[in-house]
Amino acid sequence: TMILAVETSCDETAAAVIRNGDTIVSSIIASQMESHKRFGGVVPEIASRHHVEQITLIMEEAMTEADVTFADLDAIAVTEGPGLVGALLVGVNAAKAVAFAHDLPLIGVHHIAGHIYANHLVEPLTFPLMTLVVSGGHTELIYMKEHGSYELIGETRDDAVGEAYDKVARTIGLPYPGGPHIDKLAQTAEAEIDLPRAWLEEGSYDFSFSGLKSSVINTLHNARQKEKEIDPAVIAASFQEAVCDVLVTKTRRAAKEYGVKRLLVAGGVAANSGLRTALETAAEEDGLQLTIPPLPLCTDNAAMIGSAAHFLLEKEAFADDRLNGVPGLMLK
Ligand code: ATP
Ligand code: MG
Ligand code: FE
Repeated sequence: TMILAVETSCDETAAAVIRNGDTIVSSIIASQMESHKRFGGVVPEIASRHHVEQITLIMEEAMTEADVTFADLDAIAVTEGPGLVGALLVGVNAAKAVAFAHDLPLIGVHHIAGHIYANHLVEPLTFPLMTLVVSGGHTELIYMKEHGSYELIGETRDDAVGEAYDKVARTIGLPYPGGPHIDKLAQTAEAEIDLPRAWLEEGSYDFSFSGLKSSVINTLHNARQKEKEIDPAVIAASFQEAVCDVLVTKTRRAAKEYGVKRLLVAGGVAANSGLRTALETAAEEDGLQLTIPPLPLCTDNAAMIGSAAHFLLEKEAFADDRLNGVPGLMLK
C-alpha cells in the first residue's frame, strides 16, 4: 500500500508518504516552534494560521520527495484527534479535499495510535505488547493484543510527563519546550535532592506528576527566599530521576502482569536520555524486546500516522466526508 499521511494536531505541519505501513518514502515536518517560543507555549490561533499557510506546500513536498503521483496512492490519512481543534481542522479539511479530488479513500487516525506506530517504522510490532506513551499531553500504559487494539491500563490523573517537564523548565528559567533542556542539564549533575514519587494505590498503573512538579517549584522558591544557591542541574537531575523511577517501575510491572515480551515507548518524552537508559537496563534484566523510536519519530510527524493508517486501510476502516477534528478523541 501507498499512503499520503497528514498531521496537524499541534504545532507541527507534517506530511509523509508511507509504503506498506513500515517504510518511509518521504516525511516532511515544518515546525512552528520559533513562533510559539516567545509565548512560552503553543498559541492555538497562531498554530492554525501557520498550518493554513503551510499545509498545501508540505503535502506537495512530501509527494515530490517521494516521487509519486496521486495515481500511485491507495489512501489519504489524517490525524483526526486529539489535539487543538483549529489545528486539526486544517489537516482534516486538506486531507478531505485531496481525497475527494483524486477519488481516494480517507482514513482518520488517532494521534496516539500514530505515536505508537512510530515503533512499527523501526521494528515490526509483535503481539502482545505494552506501550509506554509519554508525550506533551499524554502519559499512558497501553496494552495491545493485535493491530488496532488498544487497552488503556493506566494514565495520568493530572499532568502529562512532558507538561511537567515544560513547567519545571519554565520555573528554572529554561526556554520552551523545556523537556530537552532539563534532560541536558540533568546529565551534568547527581540527583541529590529527594523528591516525592506518586505510586498511588497498590496495583494502580495510573500516574501523577503534579505533586512532584509542585515539590520542585517549592524547593526552588524556598531556596530563593533564603537566598541560598541551588544548582539547577541538581534540581533537573533529581526531577528526572523521580520521573524515570515511577515510569520505569510501573512499566516493568505492567509488562510482567500482562505477560508481554515486547515493550514500546511513544511520544516526545521518549527522547529523554534518562528514560531511555533506565528502560534499556530494565528491558535487559526482564528479557523484554524494547523499541524506542529515533528522536525525529518520537515527536510529532506524519510518518507515524501513515503507518497506523496502513492497518486501518487493510480493514477498510474508511472515513467519509463527515470526518471532523475531535479535540478529545478517545483511543479505542
Ligand atoms: P500529544 O502527543 O500528547 O498530543 P505533543 O504532540 O505536544 O502531545 P510530543 O510532540 O509528542 O507532544 O512531545 C512534546 C513533549 O516532549 C514536550 O513536552 C517536550 O518538552 C517533551 N520532550 C521532548 N524531548 C524531551 C526530552 N529529551 N526529555 C524530556 N522531555 C522531552
Ligand atoms: Mg509538538
Ligand atoms: Fe504528539
